[in-house]
Amino acid sequence: MASRGLESRFEHLSVTDENDGGEGLKKTGLKSKVVPKSQLSQTSNGGNLLKMALSNNNPAPVTTVTVPSQAAQWRGSNAPTSATSPPRKATSTSSRPSDELVKAEQKAPQIYVMPQPKEFHLGMFEIGRPLGKGKFGRVYLARERGTGFICALKVLHKSEIQQGKVEKQVRREIEIQSNLRHPNILQLYGHFHDSKRIFLILEFAGKGELYKHLRRENRFPEWKAASYIAQMAAALKYLHKKHVIHRDIKPENILMGIHGEIKISDFGWSVHAPNNRRQTMCGTLDYLPPEMLKPGSGDNWYGEKVDLWSLGVLAYEFLVGEAPFEDTMIMTQRRITRADMTVPSFVSPEAKDLIKRLLVLDPEKRIPLDQVLLHPWIMKHCVKGERATQRESKSSGSKSSLEGRE
Ligand code: ATP
Ligand code: MG
Repeated sequence: MASRGLESRFEHLSVTDENDGGEGLKKTGLKSKVVPKSQLSQTSNGGNLLKMALSNNNPAPVTTVTVPSQAAQWRGSNAPTSATSPPRKATSTSSRPSDELVKAEQKAPQIYVMPQPKEFHLGMFEIGRPLGKGKFGRVYLARERGTGFICALKVLHKSEIQQGKVEKQVRREIEIQSNLRHPNILQLYGHFHDSKRIFLILEFAGKGELYKHLRRENRFPEWKAASYIAQMAAALKYLHKKHVIHRDIKPENILMGIHGEIKISDFGWSVHAPNNRRQTMCGTLDYLPPEMLKPGSGDNWYGEKVDLWSLGVLAYEFLVGEAPFEDTMIMTQRRITRADMTVPSFVSPEAKDLIKRLLVLDPEKRIPLDQVLLHPWIMKHCVKGERATQRESKSSGSKSSLEGRE
């Protein structure tokens, strides 16, 4: 497997190699770069879900997104140079100071259209401050030089991906995430690679990890938790409609937009990967649904209902500050298989009711997402179109995050 090499595995994605003699730099035409569906489905090895995900009538890429202030302010600004230097030198010769990136991310939101060039390459981006580091990727704030579009550039080293034997997951992450358009799902605008690295051009999540907010606040007030759960339910409904199962819903995989809105991230690591189970098992068990713990249950046992269970765990953790089955490894497993948990008395009866309807052992009996959105706890706290942050800052006046774009 590994001997085939990543380079060849990614060949079919027809991305620009930075070392292609600068051909990418010379191209001027702006066109959408879309990987043909026929090519994508060839790549999936037993990836029925992937085929299903892609067989949906996906519209041409929708590129209108809400991002932190961009080109207009950029061009108008006369930002001074500062000590903030980019972590890596970009290959282009543009002389704009990179610390403007930091300023740009702090400005007011606006609707902006992501340019869709035929091919992306590193020279098109000015690299800003590091946003974080994952198992395989390092993520940087970045700005597309031509338009000033602010994004996050995730850099994956091919050697690390190969060593970690996650080539397939990375490819699926790219294929699936780039076909999703929803305000509560982190968008993948495009990707490219050079001889050593793969670059993912991601929507910039201005407020970072939800996990950090939760740890800082210990637990969320009910109105905020309800708003987050409503946004999660809306995003999951959209995913399930496209036959995509996230399977790894937890606070660590949720980022927050500049208005404090939910952005689900981390696709592909476990979405359609039966052979991925061991890796999942090595991580936290807290969010694993009981049907995924059953021994000998084959590869067909999991369905979209696993995300409902995780949504229940999430609601609990938002309100209580810790996951419902948090315990020793053995005990967590045992308690999950019995749905053995207690909701503390400070949690409202409505919230408790929703948690109990989600944390049901029989996947078929879990409350469906449509009903989650209509549940009294959600109805009580979430006026349609209202977001957590709009309560904090009434002036933001943005569009409902509960409505997907299709
Ligand atoms: P894993 O390797 O398990 O996926 P991870 O999710 O932490 O771990 P990455 O997705 O590589 O790894 O991201 C690393 C960190 O960078 C994140 O935890 C987050 O803090 C930050 N980050 C990633 N993507 C973005 C983004 N689009 N906008 C803002 N910050 C981001
Ligand atoms: Mg991640």
